[in-house]
Amino acid sequence: MNEQPSGRHIPLDEMILKKGVVKTPFNASLQNVVANPWRENRLIEYLWMAIILEREGPGNGLRKILSVFHYIKTKKIALHYPTISNILNMDSEDEKNFFEYICKEKLDYAFLPFVVVAYDNRERHTMYDIFLEMFLGTFLERFMSLDVLLKKFENIIVEYLDARGDKATYLRFCALSLDLSMGDIVLQKGRDDILVDQFVAISEGNSFKLNPMIASTVRAMELSIWGFHNENPMFTKDFDDFTSKYVYCDIKMINQGSEKTMEPFEQVFKELSINLKKTIAENHSLMISSRKFQVMTASLEYGLRIFKEVNVVGFDSVVAVESMRSILETFINNKFLLDGESEREDIWLSYQKYGGSALRKLAAESDKYSSGTEVLPKEYDSRLIHLLSTEIEDELVGDIDLRYFENTNIRKKFQKVDLESLYHTYYEYGTQFTHGYWSAVRLATTDFCDQPLHQSHSNTELNEQVPLKSAFDDYAYILSLWSDMFFGEFPVSTSGEVK
Ligand SMILES: [Zn+2]
Repeated sequence: MNEQPSGRHIPLDEMILKKGVVKTPFNASLQNVVANPWRENRLIEYLWMAIILEREGPGNGLRKILSVFHYIKTKKIALHYPTISNILNMDSEDEKNFFEYICKEKLDYAFLPFVVVAYDNRERHTMYDIFLEMFLGTFLERFMSLDVLLKKFENIIVEYLDARGDKATYLRFCALSLDLSMGDIVLQKGRDDILVDQFVAISEGNSFKLNPMIASTVRAMELSIWGFHNENPMFTKDFDDFTSKYVYCDIKMINQGSEKTMEPFEQVFKELSINLKKTIAENHSLMISSRKFQVMTASLEYGLRIFKEVNVVGFDSVVAVESMRSILETFINNKFLLDGESEREDIWLSYQKYGGSALRKLAAESDKYSSGTEVLPKEYDSRLIHLLSTEIEDELVGDIDLRYFENTNIRKKFQKVDLESLYHTYYEYGTQFTHGYWSAVRLATTDFCDQPLHQSHSNTELNEQVPLKSAFDDYAYILSLWSDMFFGEFPVSTSGEVK
């Protein structure tokens, strides 16, 4: 995989919340724009211009492209957007004249490579007829090997792959120049001056870098024009079919690898579990008399159990990411109760009742099914579920609360205990995995095709398990917060051995 460009995400505070959707500034001001990823169609549709830019350089390249646009303008050809699809779908007379002009200007090198794609798809559409008629002979004469051509495509696509990079933005600027130079697009007042300056700068210098203000305008403008006029470019599909047939996948395993951890598992686990045991031994009467002590000790034990089990599977597993959510939610619930106890004495009991209520629902459901033909899941221990469901409350008076504890959601609990950042990072990340969303499926797919002519697809034939990045330090961090909270309430004595 190519290194991800950093700092290219749109900051959340620049986005606008509308009816539950956080909209990009672009979408908030425009509607119904089809925004396919850059690589998916626009880049391929502009490739002919990229080939010119690569050979001629930015200044000369743009001049040559503008001369083509000038020709289109003077011949009054109805072409508003210079994509390969549009060019191939021009009126046949116009198309002939256009390509004759291209050959006369010795720019045929920009179109010749596409003969292979056109030839391969010639029976699918008639749009390639004129193009092949004019270029196939020359192509064969010059005898270009398929390998060389594919490599050429690959090299160019790599250069322009980063959608917000200098080269890609410059290429988008070239595509827009047709409409801009004809005056079909009118820029906001002030920006047109910048544009003129930009053209001057390009003709004087030789850089792909555009004035940042122009660069962002160009990207937004191109996307809006694209969305309205080029919803279904045919050439892109043919190009992808062609490359999927003739170009081998380049499967890379992304071994996110285990990083060095702060402390070994044994150390973190041992210290916490020994201290917990000691605390329980020293406060044994609280086990019977204090609801708070019951909840806090058993919850921490539950957290430690998860920690220990994940250690067996590995902190670089999907299970580790998913269980992070469980350990975190258990901790946050405890913290929420602790923060709430000053206002409500019975909060711990209420939490226990809530648990019993959940079990009673399960018991009632399982009775319903076990009396029928359904087979109960093997993981159920009906007897234990029945027993624990009435541990806190008698069945006769124990209502079943279908709401989340305290009728609030987990996010609000994170907020309430001033740890909302943990919700937005760890918890939401884990949630993708818990629900098996496509995002998690993709994150857990550690083999990608790194062939620029393909589209970073995964490869399901390769079934090797590649570790994710280790979550060990994250577990250790959450447990340290938990430990501070727990032993802040029940300090462990520094002396004495617990077996
Ligand atoms: Zn591939």
